[in-house]
Amino acid sequence: MRKPIIGGNWKMNKTLGEAIHLVEELKGEIGNKTGKVEVVIFPPFTLLRVLQPLLKETEIGLGAQNMYWEREGAYTGEISALMLLDAGCSYVILGHSERREYFKETDEKINKKLITALSFGLTPIVCVGEKLEERKRGEAEEIVEKQLRRCLKGISSENVEKVVIAYEPVWAIGTGETATPDEAQEMHYFIREKLKSLWKDKAELIRIQYGGSVKPENIKELMRQSDIDGALVGGASLRADSFAKIIKYKE
Ligand code: PEP
Repeated sequence: MRKPIIGGNWKMNKTLGEAIHLVEELKGEIGNKTGKVEVVIFPPFTLLRVLQPLLKETEIGLGAQNMYWEREGAYTGEISALMLLDAGCSYVILGHSERREYFKETDEKINKKLITALSFGLTPIVCVGEKLEERKRGEAEEIVEKQLRRCLKGISSENVEKVVIAYEPVWAIGTGETATPDEAQEMHYFIREKLKSLWKDKAELIRIQYGGSVKPENIKELMRQSDIDGALVGGASLRADSFAKIIKYKE
């Protein structure tokens, strides 16, 4: 069985004081045990090392929003996998659509990052998803398939089950517009079929999260879909009450 995974991507939000407050509030809302749901927060780099001790007694995981593929060296402004481990991270988001769009991340770069993240034992969340124009042109599946194939190139069948895929239609991110549960399920099913064609039965073990304006109001219906194994949440993870409601979608 695939354990549902719910991530909170804080993006470029929260100062130190605000972040500590949010984590304390979240712990107050959900307690230290997260039960049958895996919960991870993805704060900005500067907060990771400070938040790590606050999460120590809890089952809330810590992850970063990005990393570079080289181990160390003259790469001004970049952060390595080793540094993330050092800061207490176990997860890393790779290829978020905002990084693809504003920082020109390509599938090839994401693939290099993925290979490094796996070699350091980090759990990677690899984001894929089509833009609105692409969906309107009927190219959504083709785009997502291409992203999957390129981003996961060369990953062994032993390693592929450690990868989490986040399907995030770009038109639904931060817009308030969500794919309907049926639309999301259709693409998640498509993704799993593609994964099956590449890694056979291992595809059943790979978790596929949905991301794009997930809120307390829509999480239940999304999670009812057979191929949706969790959510990557942006805006609604910035408040403890809304993120906690999403985490506790089963109650
Ligand atoms: C995201 O950041 O991955 C995301 C899906 O954002 P939002 O929930 O705000 O749409």
